[in-house]
Parts: sequence; C-alpha cells; structure tokens
Amino acid sequence: NFAERSEEQMSGAKVIAQALKTQDVEYMFGIVGIPVTEIAIAAQQLGIKYIGMRNEQAACYAASAIGYLTGRPGVCLVVSGPGLIHALGGMANANMNCWPLLVIGGSSERNQETMGAFQEFPQVEACRLYTKFSARPSSIEAIPFVIEKAVRTSIYGRPGACYVDIPADFVNLQVNVNSIKYAECCMSPPISMAETSAVRMAASVIRNAKQPLLIIGKGAAYAHAEENIKKLVEQYKLPFLPTPMGKGVVPDNHPNCVGAARSRALQFADVIVLFGARLNWILHFGLPPRYQPDVKFIQVDICAEELGNNVKPAVTLLGDISAVSKQLLEELDKTSWVYPPESKWWKSLREKMKSNEAASKELASKKSLPMNYYTVFYHVQEQLPTDCFVVSEGANTMDIGRTVLQNYLPRHRLDAGTFGTMGVGLGFAIAAAMVAKDRSPGQWVICVEGDSAFGFSGMEVETICRYNLPIILLVVNNNGIYQGFDMNTWKETLKFQDPTAVIPPMCLLPNSHYEQVMTAFGGKGYFVETPEELQKSLRLSLADTTKPSLINIMIEPQATRKAQDFHWLTRSNM
Ligand code: ADP
Ligand code: MG
Repeated sequence: NFAERSEEQMSGAKVIAQALKTQDVEYMFGIVGIPVTEIAIAAQQLGIKYIGMRNEQAACYAASAIGYLTGRPGVCLVVSGPGLIHALGGMANANMNCWPLLVIGGSSERNQETMGAFQEFPQVEACRLYTKFSARPSSIEAIPFVIEKAVRTSIYGRPGACYVDIPADFVNLQVNVNSIKYAECCMSPPISMAETSAVRMAASVIRNAKQPLLIIGKGAAYAHAEENIKKLVEQYKLPFLPTPMGKGVVPDNHPNCVGAARSRALQFADVIVLFGARLNWILHFGLPPRYQPDVKFIQVDICAEELGNNVKPAVTLLGDISAVSKQLLEELDKTSWVYPPESKWWKSLREKMKSNEAASKELASKKSLPMNYYTVFYHVQEQLPTDCFVVSEGANTMDIGRTVLQNYLPRHRLDAGTFGTMGVGLGFAIAAAMVAKDRSPGQWVICVEGDSAFGFSGMEVETICRYNLPIILLVVNNNGIYQGFDMNTWKETLKFQDPTAVIPPMCLLPNSHYEQVMTAFGGKGYFVETPEELQKSLRLSLADTTKPSLINIMIEPQATRKAQDFHWLTRSNM
C-alpha cells in the first residue's frame, strides 16, 4: 500500500543509473573504484552495457566514439581526481571532433571540501575547458534533471562533451523512492533548415561553377546525410572529396570520388560546397596556395559561429546537413542543369587520379623485403570486408592507409581526427565492435595501428579479449615513431654506449613481438614479414569469428610515403 511504498529507500547510485537509463543511455565505459563502483553495478542491473577498461583515457575515447556512431552519448564513468584527469584527453578529443559524450566523475565528499579530501580536485572547473556543459547537481533530487540537461546539451546544436560531477556522499545516500522525479527522455535534436534565399543563391553559384567540388566532412556522416548527398553527387554529376572521416558517406569507389586527385581538386576548384567540414588545418584553412585565391565557398554547418572562419564564404547555409542538402536538391531540380561530365575539369581530375593510382600501385608491387606501407595496405585492401569498420592511427600508417583502404559505408571510419590524437585506436575499436555486435552481427572492426600508436593503449587488448570483441588489430611495425632502426643498426648503435645517450628519440625496440600481447590474453597472434604471410594471417583472422587477432606486420624501418608534388604535403596530415 501507499504508506509502505513511501518508505522505500534507494541509493544515489541507483538514482544516477535510472536517470541515465531514462535518457536512453546504452553504453557505459569506465574504470571502477571509490566512489563510483556502485554506479556501474546499478547501471548494469538496469541493462546499460558496462565495459570495464584499463585506462580512463581509452574509456573516454570509446564513449565518445559511441556518440559519433549512434547519435546518443556514450557514458564514461571515472573515479575522482586522477581518474577524472585521465579522462580529460577523451573529453578534449570529443569536443574537438564535435562528438557527443557524457562523462560522470565521482568526486570527494562535500563536507570535506577544501580540507584535502581523498582525491580532491576542482573537477567541475577542470572540465569546463573541455566541455559544453560542466556541473554538479545540488542534491540527489536534482540528478535526473542535470543528467537530462547534459545529454541534451551533448547532442543539440554542435555536438560535444558534457560533464556531471557526483560527490562521493551522494552515491550511498539513501533517499525515499517517491522523492525522486525523473526528467523525461530528451527529444532528438530539432532539425533546422537554411534560409530559402540562401539556398537559391547557393544553387545559382553551383550552376555557374566551372570547376565545382563537394567536400564531405564527418559532420555529414554524423548528420546521416548520405542519401541526399549521394543524390546531389549523382543527379548533378559533381565531383566529391571526402575528408578522412567523411569517407564512406558516398562510397570511396564511386566514380565521382576524386580522393586520388585531392591536391588538384582543392587547388583548382572555383566553387566548393562544404558539407560539415571545417576550414581548419585538415583543409589547409581554405587559403592559397592550396586553393584559388577567389574560390567561392558554400558552407553548410549547424554551428553559426563556424561560418566565415578563415575565409569569407560566398554563401552560408545554416542548418542540419541532411535537411539542407535536401533543400539544395529541390532547388537544383527546378532547372534541367547538370554539370557536364565531359568538362575539362573532369578530364583533368581523372587524369591526375589515374597517375596517382598508378604511382601507389607501383610502390605496392615492389617485391623487396622488408615490405613498404603500400605493399602492406594493398594486401589488406584485397581482403577487407566491404562492411567493416576501419579504425586507423599513426603517422604514415594512417595517412597512407587512408588512400588505399576503402570505406563503403558512412560512419565506418574512425581515426586521429581534428585533434590529431594518438592513442584513440583501441578505445574507438572497442566502441565500434560494441555497435557492430549489437546492430549488425558479423561485422568486423579492422584496427590499423602504427607500432607507436598501438603503445598508447596497448593494454586494452585485455579488454578486447575479456569481452571477446570482433576486432582484428594490424600493427604496422617500423620499429619507431615516424622511423626506426633495423636490428643491425640498433646493435651497432648500442655497442658499449649509454642507451639514453644514443637511442634516437624516434626509435622503439626493434622487432618487438606485439602479437604476444594478444596471445597473452587468449587471442590469436601473428608475426609476419612477407606479403604471403600477411595474406595468410589475415585470411585466418577473418575466418575465425570466435577470437580477436593481432597481426604484427614488419615493414622497412625507413619506409615513407611516395613523393609528393608539394613539399609542405610531407608535413601535413593529408
Ligand atoms: P572533418 O574533420 O571531416 O573536416 P569537422 O569536424 O571539421 O569535419 O567538421 C564537422 C562540422 O560538422 C562541424 O563544424 C559541426 O558543427 C558540423 N555538424 C555536426 N553535425 C551537424 C549537422 N547535423 N548538421 C550540420 N552540421 C553539422
Ligand atoms: Mg612506427
């Protein structure tokens, strides 16, 4: 009866878990400890999937990738002080990438504040720089409303990271069940459209373009704009260029993809439509010499403050990319215009694509050992399942890998991103594997890591094995950061000398058997030195759906990318 029910008590931990569940949170990544263990247990009891990781940074990268892949934030749960500080890297990375994320951090008890409490730290203030919203609920009753606000803020407008601070004394405090009201699940983000006159102007600029180009960024992927953008490309015969994570919105093997002529496309386009891609370093700020000084940019973005950064755009279309690209389709449909497929521009792009592709193929066909990057990636591409997720990080490993490894589906590539972060790979792979398992079983996550990049979060291999995730790790091993030494040079260098005086800062231990990290936890490990061994181990890994694998691929320690037309290209990420 009512009198009995009204005395029923529940812990703060359960209130937090219920509030998250009410906001449709599906995944929680974290590391438990004082004072958050009870929150993880309560969340798991409510059906939130809890993935225990080995480092908060990797946990936070994983949670942020969930936000990008599903459109609802993943939660990263961390302990007070150092736990929260380790997660700051993941928050910063999510915010830079415009990905939703919710971090829940335990903090010290309120009545010990400023006294030097266990792991005391000004956490709400610390997170402010890395988030859109950072707050501590004033009472247990306020928790559901603060969590609703954090989830909503993370996905509305330009997506980003949010932080909710939970003092230790809230976690085990018992409250009357009836005293807690749960804020309703926040609605999906409202869809905004661009002003009609701006759409008309954009269509007219596009129709008058001599050398048009569409650039598809990860904002377009996040916005699920694939259908409308593909229509724009196909109906009007426009060339398009994906940014690294824009790959797959329209498949890489689409005849209108000019990825293989990237520099030429950027340099000579006279009209560029940007779908969810910022004119930051990845796109060389939109400035000469990488672009024509008078190139007309049409910017499509959900964030008004982004419009006009670095370049004065010809037209700005403020709104959701999926909605705005539909508006553009309808406007362009009003005439019979299509961009002529036999134009000089198309011819010049096709020519460049052919010669660039031939140059990489030639490098790939080199039979000399150790292998070079191109040989490795061509053999991987041959067996790459068309529906797999590709996670990639490292310097040359990521840059060259991106040009060879193809994406055919949107939101199926994750890499170092806007912030150029190394160490994201294993966390991202774990998140992608969770999404694959739950939404399209049978899908693989292929995680292509440089040997240095792998080292940042290598112990997450244990996490991968504990949850038995469908991940194949490829460690492209050149014994170092950018470049390393072969075994003979290494031995010569170290002869009778103090290692700290002679080991070049770029070098890592040569011929390290990273595959044994995987076998240590029961997965499959392969050490390969030839194309045949690589082919075989990849075939075996893909055939065995019961276990994760790691293939440690030895390459030429001094291998680099093919010669570039522009000297500054060798420095940049692209
Ligand atoms: P890339 O790294 O692919 O170049 P960026 O991260 O620089 O992409 O740019 C993504 C852009 O997409 C951001 O400016 C962000 O504001 C925008 N964006 C995110 N979601 C949407 C959306 N639904 N509609 C429009 N723009 C969006
Ligand atoms: Mg390396």
